Amino acid sequence: MRYGFISDVHANLEALEVVLAHLDRQRVDAIVCLGDMVGYHANPNECVSLIRQNAQVCIAGNHDRAAVGSLEPIEFSATARHAIEWTRGVLESEHAAFLASLPVYRPLDAETFLVHGALYPTPNDRFHLTKPERIAQSFGMLISGKIPARVCFFGHTHRAVAYRCDGEGKAAEPVHPHGGSWCIELAAEGYYLINPGSVGQPRDDDARAGCAVFDTSRGTLELHRLEYDFASTLRRAEAHGLIHRPSLARRSLEFAHQRVDDAKDLARRVLRRSVVRSARS
Ligand code: ZN
Repeated sequence: MRYGFISDVHANLEALEVVLAHLDRQRVDAIVCLGDMVGYHANPNECVSLIRQNAQVCIAGNHDRAAVGSLEPIEFSATARHAIEWTRGVLESEHAAFLASLPVYRPLDAETFLVHGALYPTPNDRFHLTKPERIAQSFGMLISGKIPARVCFFGHTHRAVAYRCDGEGKAAEPVHPHGGSWCIELAAEGYYLINPGSVGQPRDDDARAGCAVFDTSRGTLELHRLEYDFASTLRRAEAHGLIHRPSLARRSLEFAHQRVDDAKDLARRVLRRSVVRSARS
């Protein structure tokens, strides 16, 4: 099987369209979505609809559950909470019902498991797999057989990375945690925790949309990064008042500097306005 992996789309339609077209050209047999289809950006209905049409396997993330009311966004940042409140108001009922029907974890096949956040203490959409201790605890769930899989794909951190660990719990250095496109061959032994990166809001050193292609017969994992029309995404978010905090505007500005020239002026305007607004409040 040749799987395409997407995660953390966060209602960014421009990025999702580019990624789905790319995975189509990659001739994947099936697309797997690791959750957080909505939140932050302005096209939740269009994104959920496209994912429902194109992804064969989906799990929910914390933003999806918050958008349909099965999780209260108390641990969310102000920006994230504001976006969830807006999303709750516009999300069509059939898309809400779809998100509400999804699990936050599930097996993909006999060797592969899917979770939005972390495996420990139980598979969840809450904890971020960034700190060594949490990564070791999740590897422990695989090594002990509590989660019967050798490879686990996760999302939530918005950073493309592959961690490997041998059967004794000794972790190898993570592969390429800072963005860019890359490919690794998975070893026949040992355990893997893999994040395909975020489609709609990357938080590693690469602003482009992320996705992955996992070929189970070849044992290869490819991480891809793709340019998209970020200026248009920002404009739409801005039009709906979704980017209104200095933190997100500043991050957007950094992204704009890296990749999309057209977005620079827009991002600067958003940042300036956000700073003015927060100074007033
Ligand atoms: Zn997310």
